[in-house]
Amino acid sequence: MKWSWRLGRFAGIDVYMHVTFLMLLSWVAISYYLPRQSMADVVSGLAFILALFAVVLLHEFGHALTARRFGIRTRDITLLPIGGVARLERMPEDPKQEFLVALAGPAVNVVLAGILLLVMLPTAALTAVPEFRLVGGHFLSKLMWINVGLAVFNLIPAFPMDGGRVLRALLAMRMEYVRATQVAASVGQALAIVFGFIGLFYNPFLVFIALFVWMGAASEASMVQIKSALGGIPVSKAMIADFRSLRPTDSLEQAIEHVLAGFQLDFPVLEQGRLVGVLTRGDLLKNLAQKGRQAHVAEAMNERFETADPSEMLELSLARLQSCHCRTLPVLRSGDLVGVLTMDNVGEFLMIQSALRGDARAGGMGIAARLEQ
Ligand SMILES: [Zn+2]
Repeated sequence: MKWSWRLGRFAGIDVYMHVTFLMLLSWVAISYYLPRQSMADVVSGLAFILALFAVVLLHEFGHALTARRFGIRTRDITLLPIGGVARLERMPEDPKQEFLVALAGPAVNVVLAGILLLVMLPTAALTAVPEFRLVGGHFLSKLMWINVGLAVFNLIPAFPMDGGRVLRALLAMRMEYVRATQVAASVGQALAIVFGFIGLFYNPFLVFIALFVWMGAASEASMVQIKSALGGIPVSKAMIADFRSLRPTDSLEQAIEHVLAGFQLDFPVLEQGRLVGVLTRGDLLKNLAQKGRQAHVAEAMNERFETADPSEMLELSLARLQSCHCRTLPVLRSGDLVGVLTMDNVGEFLMIQSALRGDARAGGMGIAARLEQ
């Protein structure tokens, strides 16, 4: 994340502090100093800031260490005024795992609040919420309320809060993942409207939260749109319909001419209109070295190949393309070759699609990066 300072490495995870977190800390420090201009107030204030800092960090480690149990590593943790962000390498695909990873953060705060409550019970130092104030007040009591606040705030069932992911995971146990995300994002946006409305009358800070929640839900929903766009497109929309093919009796020389002319790297091989093989660039180069340019395509082509149907969903053929390591799928409509599908042209197709929707940076590049993995 930009504008962040590295604080150190704990449990193998780099921890960063975002500049806005520092602004919050300065604001708290100044609030402690101003009322009485006392250095003692500032010292107790700084101690409280450090405790707050540790609480937010423990919350994030709750996510990171739970994810690690499922074999997911965490790139880094960044502290922001609204809490921390643990950048997991990926989200767990199993909804039960996502549920546990999302819940682990707020669970840390609940446990901390419980421990603080147990510590304070015998001393009767516990203050009620209305007595909570930033300056003065009982240290442990304030820390306990901070933990309660963090748990409640993060469990709001809206993206980007943990509660949004908890809700999505719960829904995904009963419905398809993309649909679950859409429902969870809608719930989040509905909540944002309610917060914004209440905030207008009672507390301007709620309007700020509403804006934040609305944007989080919108970005999650647009990710879903990209995913469902991928799912809803038939092969015929993305395949290359204008392609070159070879005959088994052609020489490798002719294949070289096609490659050098820049048409394709892999070629379907047709015998009397029937697909009999695929000549890949790798096979072409290997056979050129061994047999020379006069060898026939029939000697070099691969007779075992996977195909796609033009009405098949792109998502399925893309998965086949990735698993077969074949780079090119000939597309057959009732036995006739009507196109070829390659990883490159699917990537380009999706990039153009998302550029048309105006989210080339967020969508297209992301898809291209994922396809390349
Ligand atoms: Zn969290």
